[in-house]
Amino acid sequence: METFKREPLLRELKNYLIHLKDLGYTEIPCEADLFANAEIAPQQSHSSTPSNEMAKNKSLIAVQEELGDCTRCKLSKGRKNIVFGSGNPNADLVFVGEGPGADEDEQGLPFVGRAGKKLTEIIEKGMGLNREKDTYICNIVKCRPPGNRDPEPDEIAACKPFLIQQLKAIKPKVIVALGKPASSTLLGRNVPIVKERGTWHEYEGIKLMLTFHPAYLIRFPTLENRRAVHDDVKKVLKVLKESQR
Ligand code: URA
Repeated sequence: METFKREPLLRELKNYLIHLKDLGYTEIPCEADLFANAEIAPQQSHSSTPSNEMAKNKSLIAVQEELGDCTRCKLSKGRKNIVFGSGNPNADLVFVGEGPGADEDEQGLPFVGRAGKKLTEIIEKGMGLNREKDTYICNIVKCRPPGNRDPEPDEIAACKPFLIQQLKAIKPKVIVALGKPASSTLLGRNVPIVKERGTWHEYEGIKLMLTFHPAYLIRFPTLENRRAVHDDVKKVLKVLKESQR
């Protein structure tokens, strides 16, 4: 491979490995059958995980079908419903949260509880957009972590390929990562969210804004925090408007 192509790849790989280390990994998560048929017929691989980050684009429906009645990680044991995502599959704007809570698990829909009401308020009142028509909303893990704990590294690793494929299918203009776990997962490193919120990044050529999770705003509803999220979404709106010109 030519050097100019190899270097960004190596940098990305290094960041990903550092991220796994930050998440507590001591070895690389990799399903043995992931590469089993790679040489012979990669397109016909029957791996239970979508090939890798370079997987071919699929429609959202195809991604959901591949996810199926997922049992790839231990979260499947306690869930009522898989929360795949909701909204416009062609949206210019995608919000990525952490994982379903009790209400989401019950209804099979993302952000329908208290944090969801706050997110809807940010989208509709703060940005003047329509949640269902103008955005798509999903999470880094699709099943509820018990007791609303943070998703664990193996759970994120099992679910991340599906998030990646969702983003590839939607091809939004802007992604907003809500909170530290979503930001860290998308950037492949440990993101200090208080320091980095409000800054632009890139995910696979798509503009990525980091902001606080709506649950954080509910827990710490200071003027400073509310203003911060307001400023972040205004930046997002500006970029969306520019991209529509
Ligand atoms: N919090 C999240 O991160 N996602 C949801 O879907 C609900 C609450």
